[in-house]
Amino acid sequence: ESKRCGRGRFTFFDAELDKRMKRRLELEHQLPLAVKNGDLYMVYQSKNSIESGEILGFEALMRLDCRALGTVGPDEFIEVAEDTGLIEELGRFALRKGCEDLARFQAIGGRSLTMAINVSVRQLVDDSIVSYTRQMIADNGIDPTQLELEITESLLAENLAQVMPRLEQLRALGLSLTIDDFGTGYSSLGYLTRFPVATLKIDKCFVDDLVKNANDATVVRTIIQMGHALGLKVVAEGLEDEAQWRMLRQFGCDIGQGYLFSKPLDYGQAERLLQTTAKIPLLRPAREGH
Ligand code: C2E
Ligand code: MG
Ligand code: MG
Ligand code: MG
Repeated sequence: ESKRCGRGRFTFFDAELDKRMKRRLELEHQLPLAVKNGDLYMVYQSKNSIESGEILGFEALMRLDCRALGTVGPDEFIEVAEDTGLIEELGRFALRKGCEDLARFQAIGGRSLTMAINVSVRQLVDDSIVSYTRQMIADNGIDPTQLELEITESLLAENLAQVMPRLEQLRALGLSLTIDDFGTGYSSLGYLTRFPVATLKIDKCFVDDLVKNANDATVVRTIIQMGHALGLKVVAEGLEDEAQWRMLRQFGCDIGQGYLFSKPLDYGQAERLLQTTAKIPLLRPAREGH
């Protein structure tokens, strides 16, 4: 079966469907308890310069680890949180931890780093996120230009009129906005020019077969060219090997993120990564040519 960019497959054996529904109910039950028990935490995945490989910053990714369910990824529990209203609280947690840890990372090696935090469109329907973000920036003494919010394209495009005022208020705080999973939203490109966004993050599904599939390569190259023509930065996510890196460098992509550079790390591991790369380059540069 060919790998496509769609999110889910909708055909399951009955047994599998049944298993999924049980899991979902279990999550609905456990998630509020996990929040109360402090079972949520953030992990950090680096974003690296495509040109030099150096770490430019991190993206904060949420994890849930509880006795009843073990470790659960956000692809499972964020949707549940959105449906049950818990997302507001999870969103504040991500913002608070992300800002606190950015301030701690900054202190290492005196480096200037960015922190990207994922925001659900559900968090953008009222303006409480604006005051909360302003407070986190102030409390942690963060330069707002080093804070970045990532918003998934599909949901954004569907709710643009409703969330636009919030995006402008957030932009006015001085932080930058990124369209996450770009290319999967089936949306009109017209809105890009009206949207207060600084960065496009190309979805992993286009990066996966970049080297093997000429059509995917064309999509990636075109997004990079269009982004640059609009004055935007372009990030590629899900970068796993050097051949992809070489091609993205050839296309002029600005930033890369993926297992090639680093997997998501807990705070301590990320701190060690920063310490060991403060003096020496993280990676040998990819060989040119080929
Ligand atoms: P995303 O923001 O597009 O994050 C990228 C996902 O791809 C992450 O999965 C990351 O671990 C994974 N990834 C990165 N590089 C590679 C790679 O080279 N290979 C492979 N196979 N995977 C890679 P994760 O952490 O499971 O997060 C999934 C999604 O959950 C995120 O997609 C984001 O939309 C959402 N999410 C995560 N944390 C939060 C949060 O705090 N708030 C909200 N609202 N959503 C979150
Ligand atoms: Mg993201
Ligand atoms: Mg993404
Ligand atoms: Mg993605």
